[in-house]
Parts: sequence; structure tokens; C-alpha cells
Amino acid sequence: MSLQTDKFPETDKFQEECAVVGLINVPEAANYCYLSLYALQHRGQEGAGIVTSDGGAMIAHREMGLVADVFSVDVLARLTGDKAIGHNRYATFGSKDWANLQPFVANLEANSFSVAHNGNLINAAELKAKLQDEGSIFTSTSDTEVLLHLIAKSPKLVNSTTVPFIERIATALKPVKGAYSLAVMSHDNLYAIRDPYGIRPLSLGKLGDGYIVASETCAFDLVGATFIRDIEPGEILEISRDGSMKSNKTLQGKEKAFCVFEYVYFSRPDSIIQGRNVYSVRKNLGAQLAIEKPVEADLVIPVPDSGVPSAIGFASQIGLPLEIGLIRNHYVGRTFIEPKQSIRDFGVKVKLNANSEILVGKRIIVVDDSVVRGTTCKKLVAMLRAAGAKEVHFRIASPPTVNSCYYGIDTPSQEELIAATHSEEEIKNYIGADSLGYLSMEGMYKAVGEAREKHCDACFSSIYKLGVPEDLSKAT
Ligand code: AMP
Repeated sequence: MSLQTDKFPETDKFQEECAVVGLINVPEAANYCYLSLYALQHRGQEGAGIVTSDGGAMIAHREMGLVADVFSVDVLARLTGDKAIGHNRYATFGSKDWANLQPFVANLEANSFSVAHNGNLINAAELKAKLQDEGSIFTSTSDTEVLLHLIAKSPKLVNSTTVPFIERIATALKPVKGAYSLAVMSHDNLYAIRDPYGIRPLSLGKLGDGYIVASETCAFDLVGATFIRDIEPGEILEISRDGSMKSNKTLQGKEKAFCVFEYVYFSRPDSIIQGRNVYSVRKNLGAQLAIEKPVEADLVIPVPDSGVPSAIGFASQIGLPLEIGLIRNHYVGRTFIEPKQSIRDFGVKVKLNANSEILVGKRIIVVDDSVVRGTTCKKLVAMLRAAGAKEVHFRIASPPTVNSCYYGIDTPSQEELIAATHSEEEIKNYIGADSLGYLSMEGMYKAVGEAREKHCDACFSSIYKLGVPEDLSKAT
């Protein structure tokens, strides 16, 4: 069985999506924004940015790298103002570029604004071509810049009456298709926006006398904010300095498509997503998996960190001990120096090592959240056997990943996804496990505790509720 596995570097695999943050009426907003981005680092590690304003000019700082490296004390001191928006960006393969770092700022004569975006638009190319025909000049390859131009061009005056900015945003977003959770900052206000399908999360919290919006509630915990509610799908929420709020719901539709993969892998376990604690959902996924795919064994081990909550749920459901049979090096950066001579399985070994003492002679159930190309589990099976495991049974706490995401998660192309072209039996043989078991689609939603209709599970089902980009390539 031949698999294309060399497109993405081993340590890069495929990347996580983005994080957005927004704050208003918060003294030293930049510091709180920085801390929030720190809590949301898991959603993107390519680069980060913060734009602040105190009602005057917008001050921006964007740089490639991790949040802690991008912002120094001096930089944060320069980012003055009681309003801020921030962004963590992931690397889309081929577009690792400073120009694509967010937030973007539209410096206009009047009504300057800035935008931070999580998600992916599926008609960005089409909209961009139209805007370029009309004279717009683009400085990046990011689909977010399309939003910037659409908002900037949205009519300011209708029948000699000034159109409120919230309505201009609504008009601008009407032709936009795809996933977007946005933090937008004008001179006076902060806007929190979710696309009509509500694909990516976005939550609202109270922070002192002001407000905060963030991709995940784990950011609220770090800065001491209190969760208020999720921004609704299709909602544009305007928050003013004085705390007054206006909600525009003209974009709202009936169909919802929250990304189920946020529960499976992306969100941090301590976040509350759509009213659900992600850790609890993952434990349920593991317990359900144990019900569906039990096997005789001596112990359960997680693939850290992504498989830990599901392994806990699996072990307690099946009544076996849970052991840490794989130890993770938490200091593995995005790049490391490859040794000159080739070391077998180097890529995985640098991150995970088998804890041989507890594995020798044992029948092991290994639990992970998902299989993408199958390279990690193949190497882990070999590593566990080399460490003395008698049997290795792989259990996956989600259904087979059979298709790419066009709504904000950077996945390898479909032909690189092992489950797209191979049966479970073939995958089991490829990874060299004694048995392999995936969670069923029904089981996944049972564990989530919500109706499937409200979600997007295109990566597992190939059902793209919003369609796919025309050329089937990801909008960058
Ligand atoms: P693979 O070796 O390609 O099969 O990758 C499987 C591993 O990738 C599992 O341990 C997952 O936790 C992890 N994973 C799943 N989705 C993603 C993603 N979008 N970005 C990075 N890692 C992921």
C-alpha cells in the first residue's frame, strides 16, 4: 500500500485553525488580548497580532512566531488603548507569509477599522476577482482581506442618511459564503460576528467594566472574565464603550453547521463550546467507543495529548486501568535540527516515547482522537511493540476522516487521508495493529449530546452543507 506522506513535514502534520479575540472598555486592553491569545495558542502557531485603539489611530503589531515571542513588554506598552482585537494564525501550506498575518487594518479617511478572522471562505476567489475588477488592490493572499474590502466599500450613505456601521457590515457579508467568526474593531465599537451556519465558535464574556469576545472560553478563565453567552450563528453583535449592545440578525438562516471536529480535536478541553465542556464530550466519545469497539486487553493508554480525555472515558467504561504508556516531550518546537544520518521514526520519536516498564508483555489498547494519514499510529504501533507490548489494539474516538475541510481547518488533500482510499481492514494492516476500531457517526453525536443536523461533519461524511470552493482548492 503506497501512501503519499511526504507533502507535509512530519512535525507539521496538518495545522490547526485560527483564534480571534476582542476587548472593549478594558484598560490595558493589549495586555489582556496578549494573555487571551496565549490561552488560544493551540489554535494557531504561525504568527500573532494585536491591533489597539483608544478612539484615535489604530496601533498594530504582527509578527511570525508564537505569542510569547511576538510580544515583548515594549511592544505591549506601545499598543495603547482600551480596545483591542487579536489573532493567532496557523500556517496554510504554501502561504506562510508575513503579509497574511492578522488583524488586518483598513486605514480610511474616516471610519478606519480592523478585522480578525477565524474560518475559511469558499467564494473568496470569486469575490476577490470582482473587487479587483472594481479597482480594489490586495496586499495579501488571505481571504480575510476580501472581507476588509467588502466592508470598506459597503455604502455609507443611503438616501442621504448615514448607514450605521453594523448595517454596513451586514450588507458587506451578504454575498460571503463560508466559515467566519470575526472580531472587528472600529474607532468606537467592537463587533463580534459569526457566519449564518455558526461553523466556528465565538463567545462573549464580561471583563471588569468592559467586554471580551474570544474563540474559546479558556481565554476567559486566564484573564478572569465571566462567560456570558455564545455569539449566535448569523449574529453581528455591536458592543459600545458604554456597554450598550446592538444585535443584527439579518444574516441568520435556519440551517446550522457547527464543526464537530472542534469537540473531537481542536478546542481546548477546558473550554465550554456550545454549552458543553469539551473534556466531558471527549470522555463521552471514549466511553461510547468502548461500548462500540470493546476488546480483551490489560490496559488502556492514550496518545498524548489529544487522546487523553477519550482514553480516560474508554478505560472507565471498559473497566481497565489507564496508564501513561507514551510520554510526550512538550518542548518540541515547530522545527528542530534533523540529524545527518537518518534515524528511523525520528519524527514521532522526538515527540513521543514509549514507557517500556508498563508495556512489557501487556495487551494494550491505544486511544487517539483521529487518524489523518495514518503515519502517527503506524509509528506508534511499531514503537509500542519494540517496547515489549504483546498486543496493540488501536481505538479512534471519531469516525474515519475521509475528506478535507474547506471551512477553516487545514487538512491534507483527500488522497493523503488514509481512510479516504482504504478500508478499516487495510488501515489495520498498514499500521500493523492487532485490531483497529473507529467510533460510529451515531456514536459521536450520542457523545456530543446534540443533533447531527446542527453540525458540519464533512471531514467524516463528505457532506458539505455550504458547498465547496469551485476549483476545489482551498481559498488561501
Ligand atoms: P496522522 O499521523 O496523519 O494520522 O495524524 C494523526 C494525528 O494527528 C492524531 O494524533 C491527531 O490527534 C492529530 N490531528 C488530527 N487532526 C489534526 C489537525 N487538524 N492538526 C494537527 N493534528 C491533528
